[in-house]
Amino acid sequence: KIHSQIAIIGGGTAGLNIAAQLIGDGHAIPQQIRIFEPSKMHAYQPGWTMVGGGLCNVKKTLKPMDQVLPKNISVSDSAVTKINPQQNEIETQDGGIYTYDQLVIATGIQTNFDQIKGAQKYLDDLNSPVASIYNYKYAVKMNRLVEEFEGGNIVYTEPPLPIKCAGAPQKIIYLSHDRLNKRGKKTHHHFYKTAGVIFGVPKYAEILTELCKNKQINCHFKQKLVEVQDHIAIFENQDTKELKSVTFDLLHLVPPQFPAQFIAKSGLGDSAGFAHVNPNTLQHVTYKNIWSLGDCSSLPTSKTAAAVMAQTPVLVKNLIRTWKYKLDPIPGYLGYTSCPIFTSQTKLLLAEFKYNSELDETFPIFQSNESRLMFHLKKDFFPIAYWQIMVRGWWGGRDGLRFFKGA
Ligand code: FAD
Repeated sequence: KIHSQIAIIGGGTAGLNIAAQLIGDGHAIPQQIRIFEPSKMHAYQPGWTMVGGGLCNVKKTLKPMDQVLPKNISVSDSAVTKINPQQNEIETQDGGIYTYDQLVIATGIQTNFDQIKGAQKYLDDLNSPVASIYNYKYAVKMNRLVEEFEGGNIVYTEPPLPIKCAGAPQKIIYLSHDRLNKRGKKTHHHFYKTAGVIFGVPKYAEILTELCKNKQINCHFKQKLVEVQDHIAIFENQDTKELKSVTFDLLHLVPPQFPAQFIAKSGLGDSAGFAHVNPNTLQHVTYKNIWSLGDCSSLPTSKTAAAVMAQTPVLVKNLIRTWKYKLDPIPGYLGYTSCPIFTSQTKLLLAEFKYNSELDETFPIFQSNESRLMFHLKKDFFPIAYWQIMVRGWWGGRDGLRFFKGA
């Protein structure tokens, strides 16, 4: 058995940020930390909306994992299959067994295209007009399909919540709408959502409802995509369970999403299988040396990288307080999350809120309308902040740069 003082499962946005801040703040040296991460690539997933929307090259959203993980950190490239929390043990797919003093679960949320009958086949067929920004290859396909689109019906879907970045299924509508308008292509845009409202926060829901009305985007609520056939999408009405066929010339679909199964299998999940942590301290409700953040956690807020940026310093501080100083964790996270919604090829509505859908805005004067300034913040500044500042542990989200606050 190989022992690590701190084990982090997942080297995505949350796992990487935790490792970078533990080291950057001087709380740990790289040799004390082991990351479990099977993927060879690290993705800046918020960039995939821009890839599908024609605003960014896919190459800018991917980097080899070994280029972004902190130097000299231990890495296991086999997926974790089970945790035995009473023994402080981790099992991996290749049969490895590891032990830890402190454990951070950061495995994200899995996209499951297979849950929609026929979806995978049409997504993989380069000649079929079906795409999705929830995967970088299908995001590239979406960009091409919109570029080549000659007019007709576009159907966009959204699966049951929770999903990562709940605003993304509609960002791609507004981006595509604007591009096709500029090219003068006569297009009918239809948005089929499984939920009953356009957005969970009333202020932004009002703005987006008006926007859809003005852009003549037709919203259909309580409709869940269950099957894709040749140019036909089949929806299930969430109240009556009736099935309805809708023809399309282009389909943008969003896959159903679930936490990794090993979390529930290890007795660490809530009723939906997300790592069950205290919503304010991020400490596991049963095991005091287990922590979780990001998309795989039970934190009842919208699942975004922006939320991860607000969660990380709280988790790092609490892990160190309990582990090194034997103090209780502090309830420091209040649910902050943000959703930058592209509303066209030049404008954006920045939604920011916390638990219970309460507003938590940083730039209120720019957040009641679509804004050009917010568009550039998202398109030009956030990717730089991610790749240059976050990976060094210096990005404090909206609290700004953290390198003054180091050890
Ligand atoms: P991830 O970054 O997904 O990382 C999880 C990691 O865990 C992966 O590397 C995976 O390989 C690894 N893993 C999984 N299972 C195992 C296992 N069993 N063992 C070991 N490792 C495992 N956020 C925003 O803030 N703003 C946006 O505008 C925005 N737009 C988005 C648009 C799209 C299309 C998408 C897909 C996401 C968007 N997000 C946005 C959401 C954001 O990308 C996620 O919330 C963020 O990446 C969550 O970080 P995470 O570390 O929890 O999960």
